[in-house]
Amino acid sequence: MSNFTRRKFLKVTGVAAAASSALAFSSFAIGGAKKKVVIVGGGIGGATAAKYLRMMDNSIEVTLIEANKDYYTCFMSNEVLGGDRSIDTIRFGYTGLSGHGVKVVHDWVSGIDAGKRVVTTKGGKSFPYDRCIVSPGVDFKWDTIEGYDAEVAKKIPHAWKAGSQTATLRKQLEAMRDGGTVLIAPPPNPFRCPPGPYELASQIAHYLKNNKPKSKIIILDPKDKFSKFGLFMDGWKRHYGYGTDNSMITWVSGADGGALESVDAKNMTVQAAVEEFKADVINIIPAQKAGKIAFDAGLTNDKGWCPVDGKTFESTVHKNIHVIGDSAIASPLPKSGYAANSEAKVCAAAIVALLSGGKAPQPSYVNTCYSIIAPGDGISVAMVYAYKDGKIIKVKGSGGLTPSEFDPEMRAREVQYAHSWFKNITADVFG
Ligand SMILES: Cc1cc2nc3c(=O)[nH]c(=O)nc-3n(C[C@H](O)[C@H](O)[C@H](O)COP(=O)(O)OP(=O)(O)OC[C@H]3O[C@@H](n4cnc5c(N)ncnc54)[C@H](O)[C@@H]3O)c2cc1C
Repeated sequence: MSNFTRRKFLKVTGVAAAASSALAFSSFAIGGAKKKVVIVGGGIGGATAAKYLRMMDNSIEVTLIEANKDYYTCFMSNEVLGGDRSIDTIRFGYTGLSGHGVKVVHDWVSGIDAGKRVVTTKGGKSFPYDRCIVSPGVDFKWDTIEGYDAEVAKKIPHAWKAGSQTATLRKQLEAMRDGGTVLIAPPPNPFRCPPGPYELASQIAHYLKNNKPKSKIIILDPKDKFSKFGLFMDGWKRHYGYGTDNSMITWVSGADGGALESVDAKNMTVQAAVEEFKADVINIIPAQKAGKIAFDAGLTNDKGWCPVDGKTFESTVHKNIHVIGDSAIASPLPKSGYAANSEAKVCAAAIVALLSGGKAPQPSYVNTCYSIIAPGDGISVAMVYAYKDGKIIKVKGSGGLTPSEFDPEMRAREVQYAHSWFKNITADVFG
C-alpha cells in the first residue's frame, strides 16, 4: 500500500470494527409485538444484513427471501475460469443463517407494497414488515448491444452472476482449440466490481498461457481507463507479453473503437465501433442497472439505480424500505461485495436503533478489492469511508493501492490476503 502502511490501515479499520462490535453486543429492548424485517435477496448484502440484525437484536423477526437455494460468490469466480479453483468452492447455502434464527424462504419476490408494507412472492405468499431491506444485486441493460439478450447469454455468457454462467464459460475455454481467440467485452461505468473484467482477462490469460499458448485474448472496452489500470497493464507485460508483437492480450480502448455495437451469435462475430471481430469464445458483460424488483417497487431513479440516505440506507423514495449492495447509489463506495457487506452492517445497526425509537448511529464503512493477475501476483485497492454532512466520504489518509514497483514477496502476500479475505467474508456472510 503506497502512502499508507498496513499497520495504519488496521488502526483505522479497527476503529470501525470496534464501533460495529459494540453495537453487535448491545441488545435493544423492543416493547410490544415482535418487530418484523423482511429482506429481499440473500446475496452478500441481504445475507449479511439478516445475520447481523439477528446478532444485534434477536427479538426482531427476520425473514430473508432468496430465489436460489445455492449462492455462488462472484468473488473468486475468476479463479474458476483460470482453472485454479473448482466451482464447488464458491458455493454457499443458507443453513448458517437459519442457525442465527433467520427465517429463510426460497421464492421469487414479485412485489413490494410500500404503502401497506407487504412483500409478495411468486409462490403466492405475503410478508408484512416494519422495515424492508432490498439487496437484489444487478440486472443487465439487454437493449444496449444489438443481438445480445438473456437467451443469447446462454451461448455467449456474461459470467457476471456466478454459477451456471461461470461453468459455461469455463467449459468453452476448455473446449477451445490452441490458437483460438477469446473476446471479452467489459461494460461501461457504473458496474459491479470495477476491476473484475480485467482480473477475468488475467485469469483466462493464465489458463491459456499454460494450456493453449498460441491463443489470443481481445478486450473490447467502451472505456479509456479502468480500476488499477497501471497495475494490470504492468502485470500483463510481466506475464502475458503485453505491449510486444507476441502479446497474448490486446486491449482496445473506447477511444480506439472498443465499444461493442452488435453481436452475431450464430457466426460468433461482433461489431465494435470501428471493426468487426471473429472469436472462438465470447464473453460479453453488458451495461448494468439495479435488480428488477427495485424497478418494480419504484425505488430507482432515471439512471436505473436506487437513491438512499447513506447513514441508514433508507430509500429516499419510499420510507421504511432500505436498499443496500450493488443496487444502491452509495458512491464513493464501489459496487463490491465488501462494500455490500459493510453497507449491510451499517443498515442493520440503523434499523435496530430506529425500530426501538432511537437514532441511527454514526456509520463507518470499509472496502478492499483484491485482483489476482497470475499465481503469486496479487494487487489490491483499499479505502475507509465516513459519513459527513449528509454524504459518504473517503477518509483522508486511509486506504491505498499496491505499489507499482514489483516486489515478488509483497505480491505473493497479496494473493494470500485475497484468499484469506475470501474465507473470512464468506464465513462472515453465511456462517
Ligand atoms: C467476476 C466478479 C468478481 C468479483 N470480485 C469481487 C471481489 O473480489 N471483491 C468484492 O468485494 N466484490 C467482488 N465482486 C462484486 C460482488 O460480487 C457484488 O458487488 C456483490 O455480490 C453485491 O452484493 P448484492 O447483495 O448487492 O448482490 P448479490 O450478491 O448479487 O445478491 C443478490 C441476490 O438477490 C437475489 N434476488 C434478486 N432479485 C430477487 C427477487 N426478486 N426475489 C428473490 N431473490 C432475488 C439473487 O438471487 C441474489 O442471490 C465481483 C463480481 C464479479 C461479477
